[in-house]
Amino acid sequence: MDGSAIDKQIEELTEHAIKAGSRLILLDFDGTLVDFTTDPVTTRPSKELLELLEKLASGPQNQLIIISGRKQDEIDRLVGHLPIDILAEHGAFIRENSHWKTLLNCSTDWKDEVQSVMEKYKEITSGSFIEEKIYSLAWHYRKSQPGTGEANAKAMIRELDKIVSEQHIKILRGKKVVEIIGENINKGVATQYLINRNKYDFILAIGDDITDEDMFRILINNSHAFTVKIGKGDTFARYRLNNNQQVMHLLKRLQIALN
Ligand SMILES: [Mg+2]
Repeated sequence: MDGSAIDKQIEELTEHAIKAGSRLILLDFDGTLVDFTTDPVTTRPSKELLELLEKLASGPQNQLIIISGRKQDEIDRLVGHLPIDILAEHGAFIRENSHWKTLLNCSTDWKDEVQSVMEKYKEITSGSFIEEKIYSLAWHYRKSQPGTGEANAKAMIRELDKIVSEQHIKILRGKKVVEIIGENINKGVATQYLINRNKYDFILAIGDDITDEDMFRILINNSHAFTVKIGKGDTFARYRLNNNQQVMHLLKRLQIALN
């Protein structure tokens, strides 16, 4: 998308935001606010980004929330000092008024069986690793050779299909990650919970990955909602920006306009 089309979208979103009296801003973290880097451990939000989020969140009519797939302690480490509510593990946990609580849960009986399959693929895929969260297991291969990573991901999914069909779990196929998670846990259900907490006349939801589509889908018939997909690919979102720098432009524009 060229620059003028991007500017037009940013202006349109800003106009809607200005007119609203109560705003909900839902932001995914990785790939949306920060670049999708090869190592999630070394990812750090810039000082500029943190200051911008803090300013936006401080507006009394703005409720800014980060909704991430990361574990609670990890997302806390990155943005925890901000005066905002945070969702972790794709909506399973919420930090509301500074306290973490479970929002959605599931059985974890399936973990050992799934882990043993993932271990096998970890062995044969150099650079890949397993991440254990409370309600999910994720096999990441962003540091592996692309061809090998994709092929082994497909083979692993075929093997996991049987376990998945027998348990209340599902496969999330994100960017360079295969994640197994409780079937009821998704950003859409979490978004519905957030919408129900208050009355908003402007809802902005931004995300880059497949898990964000649940959030976009739940908002599809909401006339106050503006959904933004980052990057290429099919989406339920109404708007699209190319990368996290353009998200920064949008947030900066909003911050200036709403002050
Ligand atoms: Mg993301």
